[in-house]
Amino acid sequence: MHISDKIKTLTAEAEISLAPYFAEIDRVSFENTERVMDAFREHRVAMTNFDGTSGYGYDDRGRDVLDEIWAEVMGAESAIVRHQIVSGTHALTIGLFGILRPGDTMLSVAGKPYDTLEEVIGLCGTPGNGSLRDFGVNYDQVDLTEDGHFDYATIEKKLAELGDKAKMVFVQRSKGYLNRKTLSVPEIGELADFVHRVSPGSFVVVDNCYGEFVETMEPTAVGADLIIGSLIKNPGGGMAETGGYLAGTKRAVELCSYRLTSVGVGGEVGATFGHNKSFYKGLFYAPHTTAQALKTAHLAAYIFNALGYAVEPAWNEVRHDIIQSVITGSAEGLCAFCRGIQAGSPVDSHVTPEPWAMPGYNDPVIMAAGAFTQGSSIELSADGPVRPPYTAFFQGGLTYESGKLAIMAAADAVLGG
Ligand SMILES: *Cc1c(COP(=O)(O)O)cnc(C)c1O
Repeated sequence: MHISDKIKTLTAEAEISLAPYFAEIDRVSFENTERVMDAFREHRVAMTNFDGTSGYGYDDRGRDVLDEIWAEVMGAESAIVRHQIVSGTHALTIGLFGILRPGDTMLSVAGKPYDTLEEVIGLCGTPGNGSLRDFGVNYDQVDLTEDGHFDYATIEKKLAELGDKAKMVFVQRSKGYLNRKTLSVPEIGELADFVHRVSPGSFVVVDNCYGEFVETMEPTAVGADLIIGSLIKNPGGGMAETGGYLAGTKRAVELCSYRLTSVGVGGEVGATFGHNKSFYKGLFYAPHTTAQALKTAHLAAYIFNALGYAVEPAWNEVRHDIIQSVITGSAEGLCAFCRGIQAGSPVDSHVTPEPWAMPGYNDPVIMAAGAFTQGSSIELSADGPVRPPYTAFFQGGLTYESGKLAIMAAADAVLGG
């Protein structure tokens, strides 16, 4: 790979400045690894846990023990981790339909949820397709304050108005495709305490995508009732080839398991075939892999900031998810950035990404992904909806070394190299 001397020098300078941040990332990774290893030891993980089942999948030890380990690592009472969950959106859909009933309201308190949920909720799409709205579930929203925090006064007012119809208070931890700050676990914990005090019947549900293992605790350890995520992001550690999870209180997870399969059957069925091993291995790797992605994100922030782009978070800012945004200011800039990342990927480095109308998204989206697993965004990937201010959302990197190379390649591409 040809990297210019200018970018090599800039990268060397970046790594000197980033050393203390990298040390802190290593500390978090160590603490999270310790928690994962403790759970593995406590549950006596053995080769037999990797055996798959077929058919109904009754008494699948590997699956049942993984659920228990997952719950423990997430600081939750219960969890379901399944390859039958096809994506993060599917996992979230299970969570929403599992908990909400006709007449209930889903109150989103961190602004608009992720793009793909709009059609699930019924904010867009064809009436009659089976959205929450079609089933008589209402939606309401409280935006974050100007400085990116929960608007407690408005949340309290809405909860009081809704009374026992306020079944779900929904929080997206990560910024997703929005130009806002990502919420920290302690902030979400404060919100959960507040909601449980003023509206004891409400479930606090967190879209945890991209947040897992960035901090030393997950939202369920500080009071959230349910967290939901994808296994081809952080918690799959780059090993899981598909899947999703839900973790939370016993009741919340039970309700979701009834939606995942059938009422009454829940999580006791579901053949695992050969997936168990990659899920265990993925969880084992997840703290480390997340750390690799975080280091790559810090490096990207430093380099693109030095090249004159607005970046969020800043290179020296503590992170709460693995997403790095680079505001390119133009459709051409966004596309050049994505082409650079693609060229620096281990797979499909020779292809050129183009914007396309992705199902579930309202604007054309351009994606750079040279991943071993299709769509995996714990692997190096960049994407962004083609709409102002043309923000490239960059995330992942299975190893810091490969992430670093791709960032250097992207920097050269943007410079017109
Ligand atoms: C990725 C993501 C989702 C959706 O996950 P998919 O696997 O793409 O369906 C939802 N919310 C957030 C915040 C995400 O980052």
